Amino acid sequence: MGDVIQIENLAVFAFHGVYPEETKLGQKFLLSLTLHTDTRKAGRSDDLKDSIHYGELASFASQYTAAHPCKLIEAAAEQLAEAILLRYPKLRGVTLELKKPWAPVGLPLETVSVKISRFRHQVYLAMGSNLGDRKGYLDGAVRALDATEGCHVAAVSSYIETAPYGGVEQGDFLNACAELETLLTPEELLEQINRIEKEAYRERTIHWGPRTLDLDILFYDDLILETDRLIIPHTELHKRTFVLEPLKELAPNKRHPILKKTVLEMLQECEQTAM
Ligand code: ATP
Ligand code: CA
Ligand code: CA
Repeated sequence: MGDVIQIENLAVFAFHGVYPEETKLGQKFLLSLTLHTDTRKAGRSDDLKDSIHYGELASFASQYTAAHPCKLIEAAAEQLAEAILLRYPKLRGVTLELKKPWAPVGLPLETVSVKISRFRHQVYLAMGSNLGDRKGYLDGAVRALDATEGCHVAAVSSYIETAPYGGVEQGDFLNACAELETLLTPEELLEQINRIEKEAYRERTIHWGPRTLDLDILFYDDLILETDRLIIPHTELHKRTFVLEPLKELAPNKRHPILKKTVLEMLQECEQTAM
């Protein structure tokens, strides 16, 4: 558990709810925020610019809540958490509790609340193209990822030319990796990736065949996930020089959460077996 800054029971006036008296007249809500951020630098420098201005943040949260009415406090909390993380890049995450102390349920309860934690995630993606304007497709993918709500491209490797893989007769690939900061879950990110591939006219015809654009999720924090649609870390990444080579530029010391080897170590092993 890292450092936190806490704001407790900030009273905000808002119009969340489903009943007319709630949506028209509004009511008071109480908002508690736990800001997950590294306070060490500000602790040493005693300089506000090294920290989060919690007064400004509280005022932003208050205005945002008043301006974005929702039927459910679940939705209100979700939207506010996202808005805060988008506005304050120094925040690693936020835990947010929205209390409705005067909920019109006609029961002698003290308060109803939702409490959620949302974090920024670090993702590494592999990108590849071997059809048409290959550089154009990779550049376009970077732009499309960065333009995706809740996604920010933090770094892009150089583009490397590689011979095709998997035995299908086809043109050479242009491969690269990108580091992404995202608020999306792995499944939501996969959906966005599929959308971006589709927009690049990718057609799924031959497996491992030629494609305008292929985007794969390599790592998502240190998450290990296996569902029907998604396997993270990507199952082949440790065997592929064309993935590890560009990834090395961005994260040489990133450790595979299952194999416990760094990107650099995996690349060296790949190069040895190739020899
Ligand atoms: P490879 O995964 O061996 O590189 P590919 O990229 O050519 O093969 P695709 O046809 O692009 O394979 O993807 C097939 C399916 O793989 C996708 O529909 C997706 O649901 C699934 N998938 C599983 N894990 C991942 C992942 N980590 N990143 C992207 N897609 C994944
Ligand atoms: Ca792939
Ligand atoms: Ca793919």
